[in-house]
Amino acid sequence: MRKILVAGNWKLNGSLADTEKLIGGVLAGMDQVQAADVAVCPPYPYLAQAQGLLAGSAVSLGAQDVSDQVSGAFTGEVSAPMLKEFGCRYVIVGHSERRALYCEDDEFTARKFAAAQAGGLTPILCVGETLEEREQDITESVVARQLDAVIALSGVEALENAVIAYEPVWAIGTGKTATPEQAQAVHEFIRGRVAGLNAGVAEKVQILYGGSVKPDNAVELFGKPDIDGGLIGGASLKAEDFLGICTAANQ
Ligand code: PEP
Repeated sequence: MRKILVAGNWKLNGSLADTEKLIGGVLAGMDQVQAADVAVCPPYPYLAQAQGLLAGSAVSLGAQDVSDQVSGAFTGEVSAPMLKEFGCRYVIVGHSERRALYCEDDEFTARKFAAAQAGGLTPILCVGETLEEREQDITESVVARQLDAVIALSGVEALENAVIAYEPVWAIGTGKTATPEQAQAVHEFIRGRVAGLNAGVAEKVQILYGGSVKPDNAVELFGKPDIDGGLIGGASLKAEDFLGICTAANQ
């Protein structure tokens, strides 16, 4: 039985005061969250503060991105060992905003995935199609291409220590959620593709859904057999909403 994971992607939001308030609010409600693993992914500068605030709690820490390099002349980069030193367990790789706005392609994302694992982090690999790709009916081939790049570099067994997040780009930050049936269909496709290479890994890998998840749609989404939780953007910035999504896993 796979556990539900709810991970909050704060994106480029926050301040020292916001981090303290948001993490305080989440921790205050964690006694309501019995069934889910929970993680928050603040911006880099707040990781040390978040590490301190989360110490001894059941909430894990994650980062939003990682370098494909370990050290050296790579101005602006942050490596997996650095994130590990600040208590990170997870790191998001291949978020659609990185792919679209910062030109990060499948191969580069695959290198980041490998670097994350080499540094002892659990990558949350984001995959998903644009609206145009869905309308062209190529969702499966897009998601397969994004997934296959990682498998080609790291092997399918690497997914045993990873999380996959299916995030249709048209649903991110738009308030337009994929229906539970639409999401389940793609999750089933992803798990089936992994199963074609290694059934044991497919059974274990958590596949999260991301794209305008809110407390009022989380129960239905998380109720689908191949949806193992959510990667949450906007709703992770309000403790009440984020906790509402986390408690959806209880049902
Ligand atoms: C995300 O950025 O990963 C995301 C799912 O955002 P939102 O929940 O705001 O759609």
